[in-house]
Order: sequence, then C-alpha cells, then structure tokens
Amino acid sequence: MKRFAILAVLVAVAAAGAVFGQAPQGGRQGGPPPAMLTIEQVKPGLYAILNPGANTLAVRVTSEGVLIVDDMFERNYEDIIRLVKTVTDQPVKYVVSTHHHGDHTGGNAKMLQHATIVGHKNARAAMVKGNQPGPPPVTYANEAAIHLGGAEVQLHHVGRGHTNGDTIVYFPDLRVMATGDLFVVLPRVPAIDYTNGGTSLEWLTTIDNIMKFDFDVVVPGHGPVSKKEDLARFKQRFMTVQSRTRELIRKGVPKDQYLKQLKVDDLGWELVPGPFVNNAAGPFYDEMSRN
Ligand SMILES: [Zn+2]
Repeated sequence: MKRFAILAVLVAVAAAGAVFGQAPQGGRQGGPPPAMLTIEQVKPGLYAILNPGANTLAVRVTSEGVLIVDDMFERNYEDIIRLVKTVTDQPVKYVVSTHHHGDHTGGNAKMLQHATIVGHKNARAAMVKGNQPGPPPVTYANEAAIHLGGAEVQLHHVGRGHTNGDTIVYFPDLRVMATGDLFVVLPRVPAIDYTNGGTSLEWLTTIDNIMKFDFDVVVPGHGPVSKKEDLARFKQRFMTVQSRTRELIRKGVPKDQYLKQLKVDDLGWELVPGPFVNNAAGPFYDEMSRN
C-alpha cells in the first residue's frame, strides 16, 4: 500500500510541475525523451523540428553555420543536434530564445558550449529571476539582426502578449516568421503568463504588429507549420474568447464559475487542465473585468 501512496505523490508532483507550455515529463529521469522529434523542410534553407504535442523549432541553415529558434528541454538537446546533422554539416552557431519558458530554453546551457544565445532583455531578466540555466548572454530591446552566411535573421519585440519578453524571428529572404508562443497551434486556449508581464489585451495589438511583416509561412511555438492566415484566425478566436468572457462577467458570473460557462469548443479549443486553466484563468477574468 505504501508503494502506491508514494506513486500517487510522484504523480501529483509531476502534475504540479506542468506549467507554461511544458509537456508532461514522461520516461525515467535522465532517460531518453518520450516523443520522437522529426525534422521537415519549410523552405530551402529553413527547417522545422517538431515535437508532437509539444514544441516546434525553426532551423535556419547557411554556409557559415546554423541558427535555431528555441531549444526545447535539456533532454531534447542530443536529438536536436542529431536532426540538424541530417540536413547540414554546419554547426549550430546561434540560438534565439523567443521567451524564458523552460520548454523553449531548456537546452540553452548545453547550446552555450558552442552557440551564441540571443533573447529579449525581459526574457533574460525572467530567467535570471527564476534561476533558470542558460539565460541569453546577448540581449536587445526593440530589434536586432544576425547576419550569417549571406542570410539575414531579424529579431523583433513588437509588444507584450504571452509574456513581456517575446521575440518574433523574421527570415525576410524566405518570407517566414517564427513567433514563439505568441502563436501556438494547440487544442487548448493559449496561455498568458501574467506573472511575467503577459497580457491577452495587448497580445491582440502585438499580433497586428506581426501581421505587418511580409511573410506567408509561420512557424508557431507549438504545433504544425502554418500560414499567415492561420495567425489572423488565431487572433479572431482569441478575441471571441475575450468577448464571451466579458459577456459572462456582465451577467454576473463569478470568477470561480465562468470557465464552466465559457464556450470554446466551436473555436477548436478545449478548457482542459493546463497553463491557461491552471494559471491564467483567474487573472484573465480580472483583465476582462477591467477592460
Ligand atoms: Zn511559453
């Protein structure tokens, strides 16, 4: 009986650890990653590494080295390097951290052995505050560019949203945008990290700012490679969730009751345990009450 009790505690601890966008741990500690990562070509010179049900990375290959956008969890490091080697002999020289969350920066400490890591100054500050390994040594405030092997990679901070330190990565010659978690293709309502400056209201303006760039393909922070129109649709769905929440507030539905009445299934989303339901639902209600 005691063994089962310990097991139950372990499961509870694992569930508590499932914060922003982090996939369930799965597998033994230090063991192989539970999911098989795959790599696919997005456009010539640009690839996506996909972790089914979890993160998506953009990989820019040039004649002078490779730049990747985000690096998942530490346990994914060897798999990421192995997959990059299947498409080029060039080493990973740069990593852009789109924001501080551990499922996007977990490989940073290992990547720093051979790569320069760049991120927004607020993303670095959040990582330092949270004692996360591998905060980006190179930061910027509004925009930056990396020139590698004749390719230009632009980093832009175009407003708050998922956090207050989100970076979008723009590949102008390929007309591709990598958004980090400002755009995710997941079955659940997008998560807002209110404790790190996230805001669902300004997120909408931030998406408008992303839409101003000239691109046709989007690599989201999670989920399959998508089209620019999918990002526009994402904004519309997010706006619908906001207006429906305001309507429930107007009807006097209290904070601890509104999720039961909030309709999202017609938008293709679910209100299942996860970063939104567990962490953001209360502050989201408050934000919608004020605005
Ligand atoms: Zn995130």
